[in-house]
Amino acid sequence: MKALVYQGPNKKALEERPMPEIAQPTDAIVKILKTTICGTDLHILKGDVPTCAPGRILGHEGVGVIEKVGAAVTAFHQGDHVIVSCISACGKCDYCRRGMYSHCVNGGWILGNKIDGTQAEYVRIPFADTSLYHIPAGADEEALVMLSDILPTGFECGVLNGKVEPGSSVAIVGSGPIGLAALLTAQFYSPGEIIMIDLDDNRLDIAKRFGATAIINNKDGKAVETVMKLTGGRGVDTAIEAVGVPASFITCEDIVAPGGIIANVGVHGVKVDLHLEHLWDRNIAITTRLVDTVTTPMLLKTVVSHKLEPAQLITHRFKLDRIMDAYETFGDAAKTHALKVVIEA
Ligand SMILES: [Zn+2]
Ligand SMILES: [Zn+2]
Repeated sequence: MKALVYQGPNKKALEERPMPEIAQPTDAIVKILKTTICGTDLHILKGDVPTCAPGRILGHEGVGVIEKVGAAVTAFHQGDHVIVSCISACGKCDYCRRGMYSHCVNGGWILGNKIDGTQAEYVRIPFADTSLYHIPAGADEEALVMLSDILPTGFECGVLNGKVEPGSSVAIVGSGPIGLAALLTAQFYSPGEIIMIDLDDNRLDIAKRFGATAIINNKDGKAVETVMKLTGGRGVDTAIEAVGVPASFITCEDIVAPGGIIANVGVHGVKVDLHLEHLWDRNIAITTRLVDTVTTPMLLKTVVSHKLEPAQLITHRFKLDRIMDAYETFGDAAKTHALKVVIEA
């Protein structure tokens, strides 16, 4: 089968690989129908993710059809259409029993990281019963690719941890796919204001279309000043960091209102200064999280009922044999205006 393989920092190739096989009775083999590329894959390719060794098939998102199941799998059968979750969960360890699947001691984020991933014709999914989701008949399967990672990530790490409430004020720093996923799902709670901050006018225009009440291009470095003006000098109740660089986290520190929350979503590769000399008396909270995907069943219902329309995030489509072009398009988003690129296997 064809698979996109990480070959070490800045090296990847579409290779011919053997079909994956059932290794444990709890495994399933899924034939991938559609997959996508995540910002995290670009982090891996930069060499930022030491757990991911050269030779690994990348990808932790996708939808597909069950090809084969191990003897202990009871919830899925050959031919079932499924969403692959970016988090594999054994369902039995202490963390899983607490709903913190991201820290499952037998799984967690292993797909396309510590085990071969979804950017291939077939993938082996461990703990299939608790790591796959049934796709209801008639659902738009392409839209459901957004449920593998970005929608639960934006929602759980940004909106839920940030405690977005009716009438509250929210700022989202970063208008990429994850920031936009937080923007879409924040609207479940009818916040009064959602301010999007980015450096790219195209992404900000999309944010406006997706429901942002204000957009700020921080090219001039005046985003903090503008947020303060928009909020009568208070700042925002929820500041969501959706980039993963020091400057954007510090923007969140500067715009959080007394009593507010900074909800970090971004993947940080270097240290960030925490200005406690300004924040110590402001009754704020800072949260971090790796997505648990506990909200995937709920989000699936909102997509099926068209309350949430994640297909809007898809800008480009490629066949698997052109996945190298897909990476180029996704990696050069400023020029190509790419958000999510869907790859058809
Ligand atoms: Zn991802
Ligand atoms: Zn577990």
